[in-house]
Amino acid sequence: MHTQDYYDIVIIGAGISGLTCAWRLRQSGHSVLLLEKADRYGGAIQSARQGEWLIEAGPNSTLETTPLLTELIRDAGVEEQKLYADEASKNRYILRDGRLQSLPMTPPAFLTTRLFSLTAKLALFAEPFISPSPPDAQESVADFVRRRLGNEFLDYAINPFVAGVYAGDPELLSVRAAFPKLFELEQKYGSLIKGQIQGARERKRRNEESKQSARMFSFLDGMQTLTDALAGAIPEKLHSVDVHTLSRSDGADESAHGVAQPAATHRETGSVEGSEAVPTGETGTHGRKSGLKRYAIGFSHDGREHVVSASHVIIATPTAAAARLTHEIAPELGSVFSDIPYPPVAEVITGFTPTPEMHPLDGFGFLIPKVEKRRILGTIFSSTIFRRRAPEGRVHLTTFVGGMRQPELARGSHEEIARIVLDEQHALLGTPTTPDFIHVTSWEHAIPQYVHGHSERMRIIDSVEAAHPGLHFCANYRGGISVGDCVKAAHALVERIDR
Ligand SMILES: Cc1cc2nc3c(=O)[nH]c(=O)nc-3n(C[C@H](O)[C@H](O)[C@H](O)COP(=O)(O)OP(=O)(O)OC[C@H]3O[C@@H](n4cnc5c(N)ncnc54)[C@H](O)[C@@H]3O)c2cc1C
Repeated sequence: MHTQDYYDIVIIGAGISGLTCAWRLRQSGHSVLLLEKADRYGGAIQSARQGEWLIEAGPNSTLETTPLLTELIRDAGVEEQKLYADEASKNRYILRDGRLQSLPMTPPAFLTTRLFSLTAKLALFAEPFISPSPPDAQESVADFVRRRLGNEFLDYAINPFVAGVYAGDPELLSVRAAFPKLFELEQKYGSLIKGQIQGARERKRRNEESKQSARMFSFLDGMQTLTDALAGAIPEKLHSVDVHTLSRSDGADESAHGVAQPAATHRETGSVEGSEAVPTGETGTHGRKSGLKRYAIGFSHDGREHVVSASHVIIATPTAAAARLTHEIAPELGSVFSDIPYPPVAEVITGFTPTPEMHPLDGFGFLIPKVEKRRILGTIFSSTIFRRRAPEGRVHLTTFVGGMRQPELARGSHEEIARIVLDEQHALLGTPTTPDFIHVTSWEHAIPQYVHGHSERMRIIDSVEAAHPGLHFCANYRGGISVGDCVKAAHALVERIDR
């Protein structure tokens, strides 16, 4: 039950990105140590029960966009607990002029919807004739949509959608970095509409699914089912760890086994949770094979200091921690990371006994455009989407406050946030002002924003990785923020390491 001196790979940060890396690397036979700062594993994915109420503090669900996610769930042994979104949640609402309007899902519904004016509908017919931007253009999501579809689509479709996905502001997000598929659609087909039609034909020929048709899922007891299963299967891991040093051990002596000794002077052997009986010393496969330089990772745990060395270090933390961890090795990353904003978001669960005055909650939920000037970003009708969210006969709602739109609201006290949500829900859904259940989670740094210059920042990270073989960055500021995108990026990294 001790840390070894050497691991093939040390992973810092145990959200879905770090856990997927650890899981897959273990599967391919590497020795892996996973270090987590918090007192739990899973990062943004946090589910808990209070009685029969399910509290999702982070993601409520995700889309089955990649077979890699499906495989991970199957391999982790939690497929049977997987829960697909109910058919009843297909409908989605957008607030317009203070009323919830169904988002049209079919061409006839689009022609008759009250969500968009006739002028906005006609603008859509002109879209195929608008020329694409030059491939190197640096456009915001808002400018892109304004140019192709007009202001009304920006206000009543894209603005609320961006709030729902990123808690973001379309004026600041880069279309190329935040919505690469949209950007590519214009570049490849010259038009979003043509791209949709031709893309659907091509996918049909290739037997593939689009993101729009990917199924949404969670688990009976919430998204943490997956991260718990992954963490449970990784034998060598520690939480409540403070990693304070990350340095190259270049030029250090090679031991008889070719093990470069870490530069640090004081070393203790620490106990590792659930560690298998692995002998101390070099047991890994990769370091010996590759001849890579080593990294020394110094950390404190349980009041004791430890140093381990590794051929690879994967930094799977948010940017602030990544900047601190690499300030010695790659100081140029300091400003790269600090230029990625993370707005605060509060996630509020409310539970009610339905009344005749209440909205029927017949859908996924609603999103609110900024122009509607409300104090919440939107609400998910959680108990319509998934069963086992609330006690029998009650409804469960999940509401988001703050984001780039109104960061100050998410920084209020939990009482203030709860009041905002109850008042807004009462006004928009007719829910009682006193709930059966309420729970507030505040995220000071919720979701990284892929703002202007993001692609360039990612290129600098690529070049740091190239200059420091064995150093890797894998987290949601790179390759997409969704759980599926994090899993995909982690797989791609594991493949690069295995190559
Ligand atoms: C409120 C909210 C709602 C969301 N909703 C959805 C959704 O519905 N669907 C969806 O697909 N995605 C959603 N997301 C996004 C998705 O959940 C995240 O992008 C994803 O889980 C991030 O995973 P990660 O491993 O990259 O980062 P994180 O989960 O942030 O994990 C990073 C880990 O690093 C640890 N760490 C930090 N500093 C250190 C350090 N110095 N040393 C060691 N460890 C450290 C942290 O404690 C954490 O455990 C949501 C996110 C939030 C916050």
